[in-house]
Amino acid sequence: MVKELDLPVRILLGPGPSTVHPRVLKAMSMPLLGHLDPEFLDIMNETTVLLQGVFETKNHQTMAMSGTGSAGMEAVFVNLLEPGDKVIICVHGLFGERMVDIAGRIGCSVVKVESAWGEPIDPGKVKTALAANPEAKMLAIVQAETSTGVYQPLEEIAALVDDAGLLFVVDAVTSLGGMEVGVDKYKIDAVYSGTQKNLSVPPGLSPVSFSERALQVLDSRKNKVQSWYLDLSMIRQYWGQERFYHHTAPISMIYALREGLRMIEAEGLKAVTDRHLVLGRSLQAGLTAMGLEMVVKEEKFRLPNLTSVFIPEGINDLEVRSRLLNEYNIEIGGGLGRYKGKAWRIGLMGYSCNRGNVILFLAALEAILSELSFKLEKGAGIKEAAAHAKCTAESN
Ligand SMILES: *Cc1c(COP(=O)(O)O)cnc(C)c1O
Repeated sequence: MVKELDLPVRILLGPGPSTVHPRVLKAMSMPLLGHLDPEFLDIMNETTVLLQGVFETKNHQTMAMSGTGSAGMEAVFVNLLEPGDKVIICVHGLFGERMVDIAGRIGCSVVKVESAWGEPIDPGKVKTALAANPEAKMLAIVQAETSTGVYQPLEEIAALVDDAGLLFVVDAVTSLGGMEVGVDKYKIDAVYSGTQKNLSVPPGLSPVSFSERALQVLDSRKNKVQSWYLDLSMIRQYWGQERFYHHTAPISMIYALREGLRMIEAEGLKAVTDRHLVLGRSLQAGLTAMGLEMVVKEEKFRLPNLTSVFIPEGINDLEVRSRLLNEYNIEIGGGLGRYKGKAWRIGLMGYSCNRGNVILFLAALEAILSELSFKLEKGAGIKEAAAHAKCTAESN
């Protein structure tokens, strides 16, 4: 007979999923309502209002698509683009490449603006691409490149895209709830995220928001949206006033999202982003003090909530990660692409982002590395991290 599940309680410090808050798990165990029950419709409306808060937008078309972050990515692309459209895509890691793949499948011609792995996109290159491709319809960029740990500032690029009059699309999967996204401030036309990074909710929904201009583009399409499941022109009739059935909403996941967002609202978005910033820099200071080298050279381009660090010479990637998991219940991520086996990715996202986890992780890593004869000054990492982590009571 298959046994009842009895799982270890992991501390998820990888690139996602992050640890789910107990209150979110509790919300998920509430009785199921029907997807057209008036009580459930209230829950959907409240979720929209809470999402508008974290996205920092007044867009009324703000909701959660069924599926993980990648479903949100695909939804934005298939709804706003048609075969033959030209799109400019900024690529500074794996998730930029994924956008290129999706646009290609739609039949778009793609102009790539690239940077070296570990570096953000240079606004100068965006300016050149915009000037060379006046007929392009949209520009897309990843704000928090989880594959490399790079933070992409949006301000300059947003202004250039606005001047050129293109649709501006931002991947906020790893940024939403961990740093400012500023949908209205940066005049972002379409943005998507995921529940499993900073929202302390399991994977399964993709929060999205569309501007009026994006909705006009959707309304004036020549062809039907190629995906039935992700067709916003139908889904918005369910997630709107009409409440028209399209597909059954993942009801318990929406309870979970509402609860995760409610906790962000209670702590305050600014306090939440400050916590991620302070603790992320604290972790990075601790790792540096232990003698490890950051992948992203300039601090201002380092994500606070996802730190990529080179694995020291002579240290085996898998050995360290499996010891962290088996001996300390801590999960961190390995490197991707050219960083495979060469870097670790350490997430401090949502409920996982607290001072206790920073100190525990540094202590565990120090213990393992010392046993593997990596030369380090005992206690230096923790001392440096603690000095950086002057955080408020909520973050503990
Ligand atoms: C995680 C992630 C995605 C994909 O999200 P899934 O939930 O894995 O589908 C997309 N973009 C970025 C930047 C991510 O970090």
